Amino acid sequence: MQLSDDVTKQFRLTAEQKSALERLGIKTIRDMLYYFPLRYTNISEIKLIRDLSAGDTVTLYGRISKLKMRKAFKSKIPMSEATLEDSSGTIPIIWFNQAYMAKMVHDGDNVELSGKVSEGKHGLFLSNPELKAKNVLPVDSHNSLFGSDKESAQVYGFPIYRETKGITSRFIYHSISKIISTGIVQQIPEYIPDDILKKYNLPKLSTALVWIHSPQKENDAQAARKRFSFEEVFFIQLARKIDRENYEKNKSYPVTYNPKDVEDFVGRFPFKQTGAQERAIQTSLEDMAKQTPMARLLEGDVGSGKTAVAATLSYAVIKTRPDGKTFGNLQVGYMAPTEILATQLFENFIQYFKHTGISIGLITGSGCRKFPTKVASAKEPWTTISRAQLLKWVANGEIPILIGTHAIISTSVVFKHLSLAIIDEQHRFGTMQRKKLVTKEGFAPHLLSMTATPIPRTLALTIYGDLDLTLLDEMPAGRKPIITEIILPEKRDEVYAHIREALKEGRQAYIICPRIDEPDPDKEMALQTRSVVAEAKHLKSDIFPEYEIGILHSKMSKEKKEEVMNDFSKHHLHILVATSVVEVGVNVPNATIIIIEGADRFGLAQLHQLRGRVIRGNHQAYCYLFPNSSGETALKRLTALKKAASGFELSELDLALRGAGELGGTKQWGITDIGMEAIKNIKMVEAARNEAQKLLSGDMELKIHPHLRELVEIKKLETHFE
Ligand code: ADP
Ligand code: MG
Repeated sequence: MQLSDDVTKQFRLTAEQKSALERLGIKTIRDMLYYFPLRYTNISEIKLIRDLSAGDTVTLYGRISKLKMRKAFKSKIPMSEATLEDSSGTIPIIWFNQAYMAKMVHDGDNVELSGKVSEGKHGLFLSNPELKAKNVLPVDSHNSLFGSDKESAQVYGFPIYRETKGITSRFIYHSISKIISTGIVQQIPEYIPDDILKKYNLPKLSTALVWIHSPQKENDAQAARKRFSFEEVFFIQLARKIDRENYEKNKSYPVTYNPKDVEDFVGRFPFKQTGAQERAIQTSLEDMAKQTPMARLLEGDVGSGKTAVAATLSYAVIKTRPDGKTFGNLQVGYMAPTEILATQLFENFIQYFKHTGISIGLITGSGCRKFPTKVASAKEPWTTISRAQLLKWVANGEIPILIGTHAIISTSVVFKHLSLAIIDEQHRFGTMQRKKLVTKEGFAPHLLSMTATPIPRTLALTIYGDLDLTLLDEMPAGRKPIITEIILPEKRDEVYAHIREALKEGRQAYIICPRIDEPDPDKEMALQTRSVVAEAKHLKSDIFPEYEIGILHSKMSKEKKEEVMNDFSKHHLHILVATSVVEVGVNVPNATIIIIEGADRFGLAQLHQLRGRVIRGNHQAYCYLFPNSSGETALKRLTALKKAASGFELSELDLALRGAGELGGTKQWGITDIGMEAIKNIKMVEAARNEAQKLLSGDMELKIHPHLRELVEIKKLETHFE
């Protein structure tokens, strides 16, 4: 057996298992070994059914039978009922208000449940136990493991792996055990330098791989997890630092404007800049005065005024005369992820620059525009020009500011002196795309990346390790705070009535659902939540027949998505039912209400972002949260959203509130669950940063550590979140 062997070669697999493994990203034996458990069940906490007494909080293993759904006799509350059986006896289960449980488990399933033992008229029962895992162990192995042999069990805990349709946790455990038993793990060379392992007390690779899959003590499991989470952050830091170092080898044009010009420019804003905007501008200008390129990430909530910062820096660039006399030599390229956003930015920039006479170009897939122009109308102060004409003016420097979608990085766009590259909503672009905008032989523009996605500081330091971080953590004065309410099911009609009123007054509304359509075999939990497709149908036929309702989700083509967003921003649609893909950064000031279905299903930071869709107008905005569960933790999180003001605050809270295994949804950052465990720990992130810095300082190419070099290259590819 080789690490690079195909799993299909080493194991006899059904077609269903093959495609399941593929979905989990497991192709080789190595992938399988690096598929880590989400958590472990602690055998000493497991009880047998015959040993239960009322009031116990327990973890039980057993087989489900007699599953049915019914409504409670008086209250009509829907509930699911079943029986759980283990080697020692049976106990009834009741899930109140959770009719969907009947869809999530089936008769015959072997499950892990944890919850409270209650006593009713007919004896003991489990009320609302949490389904921790399915198909973890067959009841018979349960017998030998947790039955008579419980005391002598060889392992501390059973690893629980993330499952998918066709693959059980048990299957993964057995496959990995087989791999480990071949002794292959001992042959894998260590890739982390010894002194680092010693310093942080991390186990060696071969030990850690065994410990993580079958720990004999709790400490073993923890030590192994610590090693792998450290190593992941360490790799990313290495990759980013190498990127940064390479970037700084380039030369850039120093921006040497006259400070009075910038003062005038800012003085013309129709508002007073916030302290945070002023600081962001100042810091960036200091950086841009140097010959090494700036590489900065500007992180600010929706509405914090990033565009004004971008405009001011652009102005300083254009006012720079490198040879002392030429005007308009240096240029700015500004890339936005969608056509609507690019067009909006073009219009914003016209407002900021109209008094200057400076030309601004727009390039998108559907055409090119230029401002100013002699044939301007009051409505459209720009003209449409041919692509060839625009490219010519960009190439000869006549257009100093070019705004565009990724069309801006196509090879036909050649700047004369690109000196500042601005990227809006930068997480929407892959690293490759970003690099295309910024690198040319031996020369690089200053880079200003901007994002409204609030992420915890530890995460930012990791994934943006190649950028300096500036926060726009101050909202413009006088903004009306959005009114956020948590709505219980019986108040749904009142909310609809409010929406109708608002629509009558000419406003618009977003309705966000957690899913696109059902069924979604991989996400059984999803069964209880509303889907975009079904919800839009229902709203149109039963609630708002008189209004135009559109849908938007990630499975639609890019063109279709833009078309729908366009229809919505032009008010051809009154209600937009969407998944969380709703364009980040798009400004539809007329949309003042957002409903979030299954709100407890979203991360706090994500909810905050969604809510940000409606805070831009002058009208009072509302965000209504419809949770699926009225559980304590769900309500606690949503209440935090109601109270918290800033996205940063929420992103930290979000991270802190999530347990191991719940850190999913982080795939977009290219970090695994185990890597996220490090992200919860600022000390570990700082240690990884420092060690990466130290290691590279004498050996930029990692020549002394060839294995490490190889893995960092792989990590670089994985985190090119495309
Ligand atoms: P974002 O950070 O989301 O890109 P924008 O730059 O689009 O935010 O700004 C949102 C709105 O706030 C715009 O209408 C802009 O004119 C306004 N704005 C920006 N800065 C300020 C400020 N300091 N005071 C008041 N309004 C501001
Ligand atoms: Mg913006």
